[in-house]
Amino acid sequence: EAKRKGRNQTVVFRVDLLDAVSRRLQLEQALQEALNHQELEVWFQPIVDARNGKVVAMEALSRWFLDGIFVPPDEFIKIAEASGMITKLGKQVFDNVGASLADLRLNYPDLICNINLSVRQFRDSNLEEDIVDCATKYQLPSSAIHLELTESMIATSETEILPTMCALVDKGYKFHLDDFGTGYSSLERLRNLPFDTLKVDRSFITPLGKGDDVMVRNIINIGNELGMSLIAEGVETETEVHKLLQLGCWDIQGYYFARPMPLAKLKLWLAENQTQIAQQTFTQQKHT
Ligand code: C2E
Ligand code: MG
Ligand code: MG
Ligand code: MG
Repeated sequence: EAKRKGRNQTVVFRVDLLDAVSRRLQLEQALQEALNHQELEVWFQPIVDARNGKVVAMEALSRWFLDGIFVPPDEFIKIAEASGMITKLGKQVFDNVGASLADLRLNYPDLICNINLSVRQFRDSNLEEDIVDCATKYQLPSSAIHLELTESMIATSETEILPTMCALVDKGYKFHLDDFGTGYSSLERLRNLPFDTLKVDRSFITPLGKGDDVMVRNIINIGNELGMSLIAEGVETETEVHKLLQLGCWDIQGYYFARPMPLAKLKLWLAENQTQIAQQTFTQQKHT
């Protein structure tokens, strides 16, 4: 009896494993196809200055609908990174963002777009060249594109990233530290890296609703001390907005203001809200 149970459990375990592996393999193949046919989309989520409703920037977020079904970016970006397809995906994102931003800037000349980057793009491709080529092709100044790196990337791959990052900073590109507070980087390291902005991770925003502001308060202090700008991510409620304004963080990204949306919908949103675009502010950075 025990033996039979044991054997059954083994079988069940193997089937589960096979399912996960085969889903991954199927998705990997399908992603390759989707990239070959340029089927991925880029959606845009506005970042709003809650003091005056002006749009500070928007974040480009990759979207993939496989046979009409949404595949979560956290899932396919991981597959793209592990398989090396992220460099191809990244180039398509640059081209899509370049074309969309050039179009949008005809009506909104100060509009900025943030692009997420992966470590493998630094390792496997000439990232600096790809970004500069995109800006040249679509006649965009370096101030129109901001680049997002997650804190966990910095913790594990700083030396790989730093030379290209510095070269791009020299050309006028600004870097944002994404998912800040989740990646265990030391403050000393943070001080020495040329980041312009900290993006406060959503996991610290949600507790605001329960009156727990300890993480956000301290992250805002760190940002202020280092002369960096701040963006709060994943803000969904009015309470969170009010709390953040009280604590001194006004640039806000989240469902409260707008969800990520395709270009056509973004144009309608901008028009309907008679949106004004914020002028870029120049932060005093203390990094050496
Ligand atoms: P991220 O860069 O931290 O992007 C913010 C994520 O929060 C997005 O998830 C966005 O849709 C979601 N979000 C925004 N506001 C809210 C809110 O109020 N509530 C909730 N619950 N979520 C909110 P998404 O689009 O699923 O993307 C997940 C991650 O995938 C991104 O996190 C980023 O790390 C990665 N990613 C997406 N597109 C790209 C890309 O083109 N290249 C690379 N390298 N990574 C990408
Ligand atoms: Mg991001
Ligand atoms: Mg983030
Ligand atoms: Mg994230």
